[in-house]
Amino acid sequence: MNTPLEQLYRLQDRIRFVQSRQKERDTIPSELVEVDREYQEKVEAVARLKKRAGEADGERRRAMAELSEHRERLRKYQTQLRAVQNSREYGAVLNEIDGVEKLVRAGEEKITSLDAEIRSASKELAGREELLPLETEQHEERLKDWRSAQKAINEELAGAQEEIGRLEAEMSPRDRAEFLRLLEKKGGQAIVLVIGNSCSACHVKIRPAALQALKAGRELTYCDSCKRILYWDMQRS
Ligand SMILES: [Zn+2]
Repeated sequence: MNTPLEQLYRLQDRIRFVQSRQKERDTIPSELVEVDREYQEKVEAVARLKKRAGEADGERRRAMAELSEHRERLRKYQTQLRAVQNSREYGAVLNEIDGVEKLVRAGEEKITSLDAEIRSASKELAGREELLPLETEQHEERLKDWRSAQKAINEELAGAQEEIGRLEAEMSPRDRAEFLRLLEKKGGQAIVLVIGNSCSACHVKIRPAALQALKAGRELTYCDSCKRILYWDMQRS
């Protein structure tokens, strides 16, 4: 764990390790997918019902405010009706009353139907909320093995991340940024082993001069073909 190349190789290895373990940690095992989906649906149903109950409440308040305005206008016209002087005016006010009465009836119907909706939603919500704690407990019980596997992965990750931090701290910010960019560009393979005098990523033979430089290990040598950093493993050769 000494030369910069060895450190780069190790850094890549740890970064790849972290990525694959994170993926493993965050992917629910296939045998639990269906169980988890069913549980998530229950959780979402509660959230949906709560949201709808809130919306319906708001709609009801607005409908009540409108209704009381309509009723107020109706009372005004009824007062006017008692004061009219001639049949033309009488007819006009009756017309207005007719229109406002329709609005009052529509408003009342809307409130009645919102009331029914709120009642049934609250009933369903109460039922679901009552069951949810037990369902959550049962669900966690089914997921227990996976949860402990996740916990073990998290511990492994903490160790790997600590090592990554240490390795990165030894690089200049510019080298680090460049290496991480290459890693991203090359699908997680920025530095690759030379095996049988060839690049192990693209299998193109390494020029003898490049091979010499590589074995001397003083500077970064790139594969002519795939532009990855080449790594000569002293222990393997
Ligand atoms: Zn190559």
